[in-house]
Amino acid sequence: MKILIKGLNEIFERNIEAVTKLFFEEPILVFDKDEQADLKVSFDWQGEKEVNLSAVLDSQLDKKHFNSEYPAPINVDIDDKENRKRLKHVVNFVYLKLLQQYTNVTQPWGTLTGIRPTKLLHQMLQNMPLEQAHRQLKDNYLITNEKINLMQKIVDRQLAVIPDLYEVSNEISIYIGIPFCPTKCAYCTFPAYAINGRQGSVDGFLAGLHYEIEETGKWLKENNIKITTIYFGGGTPTSISAVEMDSLYETMYRSFPHMEHVREVTVEAGRPDTITTDKLNVLKKWNIDRISINPQSYTQETLKAIGRHHTVEETIEKFWLAREMGMNNINMDLIIGLPGEGVEEFENSLIETEKLMPESLTVHTLSFKRASEMTKNKEKYKVADRDEITEMMKMSSDWTDEKGYAPYYLYRQKNILGNLENVGYALPQQESLYNILIMEEQQTILGLGCGAASKFVDPTTRKITRFANPKEPKAYNETFIETTHEKLNRLAQIYKNNTL
Ligand code: SF4
Repeated sequence: MKILIKGLNEIFERNIEAVTKLFFEEPILVFDKDEQADLKVSFDWQGEKEVNLSAVLDSQLDKKHFNSEYPAPINVDIDDKENRKRLKHVVNFVYLKLLQQYTNVTQPWGTLTGIRPTKLLHQMLQNMPLEQAHRQLKDNYLITNEKINLMQKIVDRQLAVIPDLYEVSNEISIYIGIPFCPTKCAYCTFPAYAINGRQGSVDGFLAGLHYEIEETGKWLKENNIKITTIYFGGGTPTSISAVEMDSLYETMYRSFPHMEHVREVTVEAGRPDTITTDKLNVLKKWNIDRISINPQSYTQETLKAIGRHHTVEETIEKFWLAREMGMNNINMDLIIGLPGEGVEEFENSLIETEKLMPESLTVHTLSFKRASEMTKNKEKYKVADRDEITEMMKMSSDWTDEKGYAPYYLYRQKNILGNLENVGYALPQQESLYNILIMEEQQTILGLGCGAASKFVDPTTRKITRFANPKEPKAYNETFIETTHEKLNRLAQIYKNNTL
């Protein structure tokens, strides 16, 4: 599809591209030239400082013609950063409405491009009544009622499980990244390195991580900052040996302040091929009972195609092993739209999930992330179309509803199939508090370990700043002393006017 755009300043070109891609595969966009194209979209700005924006779409293909306009006058000052943002949103609004009419495809998230829709709703509800917030989501962002209801359900659930969500900014949560996995999955962009033959690099990395935990714990104790939740991710934190895990948790319990106050410790054990009786015993010893075992799919050919070298049976077997050994809060991840998968395969995944009934189920929609093997070789991987993805999404929401799970967090990604979302569902009182805290950005999350990202949330201004540890174990080993102190300095900065 070739589309000619007229009447727009070049600062809007990237937005236009992003909106176009929601509707068309590999579109060709031409700005302000006299060329032949399948569609011609002309923007019209009427007025001087406060202007009315409208646009028309003419299709050369089927001779159709559509109009759209923004319902209120807008200020066109592009030098003001905030106003420029608003203007981009207005241009998106007008353009999206045209493409929705022309294609007859409704974008469920409208013009909302952010990855945290529920954060927006939390903000709105702190400033206006619910009805007004919902009306704005519908009228200003063109979000469908179905998605607004989903957002509201999630916000309600989050406030029920973390009633002090808006006040936890004086505490922090901790993310610990272990960058190793048995093999690398095709869709993966996490810092994950195949562990085999890398013992030297594992040893070096763990030495740095122990240091980070000890120094961070010392600082938190000195400054009397409490920890709300701790999350081990990666990679796969259970790829290291049982002895290495034991020693890491020993350091954590010895170093961090008030471990009895920590509301949740999660360890991802995503790859079933890393789970052993010894490692489960270590988790039990340290009272860690929230783990994640991720099937992604229950179709063997799919696992092979995406580079996960474990069997469906192994996932089920390891689930029961963990259950028998006392793990009573198990999360499982499924991915909608894996290569070669459609409604039939997803139904099979739901049937298998029903036999296990994990405490929580996170349903991801496949996203083509730029750096993954899958994106680099996109033509090799055949994925379901928009309608089928939407149907599978609906199946997951109906299935979870029937089985007593409720949605409790959601996030969106760029290049996600069908422009949809990832949703975490949980049985009552089994929600992951860490997942809520990271999505809603209500407190600082300090990242330790390889590739771990820290997000500093100023308790007063709510301003967010970020810091990332190196992704490569080698670079991490060379820099962990400086990065640890850099992060602690930043923590000191944001707390200097608060609890200190
Ligand atoms: S298990 Fe997770 S972190 Fe490891 S390679 Fe696969 S997707 Fe990446």
